[in-house]
Amino acid sequence: MLIILVGAYMASLDNGQFERMVIMFIAALIALFIGTDYDDRKEAEERRLREQQHSPQISSHEQFQLLLDASADAVVVVKNARVTHANKLALQLLGGEIIGKSVQIAFRHAGAIERLSDPDVKHDGRPIRLIGIGLRDQIWEMRIAALGDNEKLVHLSDKTGPQAAEKMRVDFVANASHELLTPLAAIKGFIEALTETEAGAEKKTRKRFLKIMEDEASRMQALIRDLMSLSRIEAEKYHLPSAVLHMDRIITDTVQPLIEGADPRGHDIVLNLAADLPPVMGDEGRLRQLVSNIVANAMKYGRAATPIIVALEQSRSGSMLALSVADEGEGIAPEHLPRLTERFYRVDSGRSRAIGGTGLGLSLVKHIVDGHRGHLEIKSEQGKGTTIRVLIPIAGKQ
Ligand code: ADP
Repeated sequence: MLIILVGAYMASLDNGQFERMVIMFIAALIALFIGTDYDDRKEAEERRLREQQHSPQISSHEQFQLLLDASADAVVVVKNARVTHANKLALQLLGGEIIGKSVQIAFRHAGAIERLSDPDVKHDGRPIRLIGIGLRDQIWEMRIAALGDNEKLVHLSDKTGPQAAEKMRVDFVANASHELLTPLAAIKGFIEALTETEAGAEKKTRKRFLKIMEDEASRMQALIRDLMSLSRIEAEKYHLPSAVLHMDRIITDTVQPLIEGADPRGHDIVLNLAADLPPVMGDEGRLRQLVSNIVANAMKYGRAATPIIVALEQSRSGSMLALSVADEGEGIAPEHLPRLTERFYRVDSGRSRAIGGTGLGLSLVKHIVDGHRGHLEIKSEQGKGTTIRVLIPIAGKQ
């Protein structure tokens, strides 16, 4: 209206009839345009408000529960600090009775309660670490998305696994450093003793000290060799070994030198290999390493002068070859069995070190078996002995 009045005033100023009409016409057009635009915007805003009032929240959609249950994480919806929805994983984690309960009762975790009960907290979607929901050692990451109208979508994802893997890596570096430092410290100590004290002048003592130093150096060498093997095997784990090999020949070639060697335990080895076995698909170097590690353990931990039976046969299903190495000895307590293939895990560290063990033998065996898509079983009876069984797929049956 104001624009039309201004237009009329301008038109009345000393202008000709035609110019006045043109100015009035343009002013009316501008007023119409602005007015329409203003009406449109107002109408759109009113419509949006109307829709907001009447359109249902996403959480009231009939398929919403299906959507929640499809998530691989535990998901909970909270409205006005009360649980309104939870998927199956969340019910398992927090308890089956949480729907309708307050966040204090449902979560029982101060950090979670703090963020979910306060309607004014702004959620930027960043993860919040929670320890102590579910099992005591479990680590969860909580993400909260505001759905509006004081409704919040809460995601809980289990981060215990990646955390454990990270801890294992850190522990491994610490253990490897410690294992290498121990013999090195002994070698340095004996060098000092030989150079700075009178012991170095005495031939018998010098010889004894040099022998200890040599043993410690060999221990370091064995450890470094095992560490290098482990890292190479880990790097190769996605390549399936492709050579067609006869397992009985690999076993004989590896074990015969032990049978004929200087260690008296070698004389206790009994080979029991079935005839005419089909070949396996494998990596010869790795399979020799596997046989050597298992037989060496039986020689180390089995009782002196008792037989070590090394047997090879076709598995019951016919799709694998089964190698077993059985010794007679103290055996292993059941609680240790699941952990024996962990790096540096030993039942008796002092004993293992004293007989030259690196603590990596069975871990290497496990990696080699996995690389061949095989299977490893460790059975042991305390006071009787231990049997290690390895199954390797027959060529063409992987
Ligand atoms: P190590 O170098 O200490 O022998 P391994 O990884 O080969 O390391 O074995 C891990 C541990 O498992 C050993 O320290 C030992 O306690 C136990 N172990 C392995 N083989 C046998 C066995 N045949 N009899 C009894 N204990 C065994």
